[in-house]
Amino acid sequence: MPSTVVILGTGGTIAGTAASADDHTGYAAAQRGVAELVAAVPQLAGQAIEAEQLAQLDSKDMDHATWQRLAQRAAHHLARPEVCGVVVTHGTDTMEETAWFLQRVLAPAKPLVLTGAMRPATALQADGPQNLLDAVTVAREPGACGVVVVMAGQVHGAHDVRKLHTYRLDAFGSGDAGPIARVEQGRLRRHRTWPVGKPLGLACIGFEPASWPRVELVFSHAGASGTLVDALVAGGVHGLVVAGTGNGTLHQALEPALRRAATAGVPVLRCTRCAGGALVGEFDMGLTPAATLSPWQARVELMLGLLASPAAA
Ligand code: ASP
Repeated sequence: MPSTVVILGTGGTIAGTAASADDHTGYAAAQRGVAELVAAVPQLAGQAIEAEQLAQLDSKDMDHATWQRLAQRAAHHLARPEVCGVVVTHGTDTMEETAWFLQRVLAPAKPLVLTGAMRPATALQADGPQNLLDAVTVAREPGACGVVVVMAGQVHGAHDVRKLHTYRLDAFGSGDAGPIARVEQGRLRRHRTWPVGKPLGLACIGFEPASWPRVELVFSHAGASGTLVDALVAGGVHGLVVAGTGNGTLHQALEPALRRAATAGVPVLRCTRCAGGALVGEFDMGLTPAATLSPWQARVELMLGLLASPAAA
């Protein structure tokens, strides 16, 4: 039976430190090494755990080169027969984007669990140690698979997870789908089956990250115009995601610019800027609906789609 859990550290608030224990906002993220984070959880002592520092950054600054290395190292460890699962400590700001990226590239048969914290490691009641312990529990769960986010005792699937709050400890949710499971006293209470997916594979991200397609986000809003879209197309953008109002509707001054972009060969994905819900109903071709994806997931989706079939770029 595989029993080793590998913990890859990438930084974030879980590794952050502040000058005083009651400071939850004026801290520096990504200060403590992953081995220190593991050592701060006495319940992990004696468990078969390996810690590896992959990066040390505030996830607001996440970049494609780090994503590439993370996917490659996670795949390497997941392929080891003695490893039952991999945990990634990560900042919460872009955790859902990293989760979707890893799920689309790897869709692993073993659990790949992202966790973090809303409070720095120095806080009076830091949430990082419990989140890390819960993440390891999920990484050891028989039958678990795919990329999930474990925060505040909830297990969210990579497709559904959203950061919904700027400050609260339970900042993450899964919208209409709800969490896959809850971690309660070291055990999982399952609500639904583990999501499975078909991986695109590491080969599609094997290119130099600086050459990955540039996919940008634009929003529809009151007073919108096509100026930004036209400038992006003139600047050589490879793809666009538009976050529409409501059910993906677009301002009449913005839509023609997006259609011009699509006609010029720049693929456009349309989604909603609403925090919940999917695009419902029929949409005309040209501005492809991104169904249930959030704008930032759709950006990952389009970028990976272009990497997987460069002819489409
Ligand atoms: N800015 C931090 C980060 O994403 C926030 C956090 O981790 O909660 O790295």
